[in-house]
Amino acid sequence: MEEQLRKSDTLTVVGELAAGIAHEIRNPMTALKGFIQLLENSMVGSQSHSMYFNVISSELQRIESIITEFLILAKPQAIHFNEYDVCRIMKDTIELLNAQALMHGVEFNIYYEKDLPSIYCEPNQLKQVFINIIKNAIEVMPKGGNITVKIVDQQDGYIHITIEDEGSGIPSDKIKKLGEPFYTTKDRGTGLGLMVSFKIIKEHKGTVEVESEVEKGTIFHIKLPSSKHC
Ligand code: ADP
Ligand code: MG
Repeated sequence: MEEQLRKSDTLTVVGELAAGIAHEIRNPMTALKGFIQLLENSMVGSQSHSMYFNVISSELQRIESIITEFLILAKPQAIHFNEYDVCRIMKDTIELLNAQALMHGVEFNIYYEKDLPSIYCEPNQLKQVFINIIKNAIEVMPKGGNITVKIVDQQDGYIHITIEDEGSGIPSDKIKKLGEPFYTTKDRGTGLGLMVSFKIIKEHKGTVEVESEVEKGTIFHIKLPSSKHC
């Protein structure tokens, strides 16, 4: 309980900070990117500099990802809740990530139960959650594998969404660290994807549980209230 409280305090502080700084950083970033592009174009042929430009671009890209994730936290005004078909949102997400998955030799197995009740949600935010979790699943299977997505009605007022991978898994003592700001085990990670996702699911009155076995894979269980029970 205390752990939960501490986490949500951190979330509030980070959210408020994000609102203040994210917009301020984004504008000069756009200018920087533009001028670096111009500089690079004007130096075509100079081999020795191309590596520097690659580093600059990839670092700028990294700052941009962090800002984007912060902005999702800081944009409550864009929230429009309504009734939506969660399968439609998942289909759109998978379509979006299909090219990236194929490039990594990752295939999707999908099972959607028929005639599911709709859910009351903000579709763009929910899509963001699915993107974050599925991207992580792709990233933990560098040699390829399967991602299994299931959506079923639990008949207890909740729609149950599971996203399962065959990746590295997560040691049990690390599971509680998921969703902590900046917790990442990746060289180029931001450690913000799950934090944003957990916050969004909480705002939808849902829950997330993580089941994982090292070397076997991980299952994210998301439960969201179905509309007919709202
Ligand atoms: P990032 O992807 O930038 O590292 P996230 O918040 O998305 O940040 O994830 C945080 C960490 O949680 C990851 O660095 C990874 O260690 C762990 N993680 C998340 N999803 C999975 C997964 N499907 N399998 C194994 N580890 C995962
Ligand atoms: Mg991630």
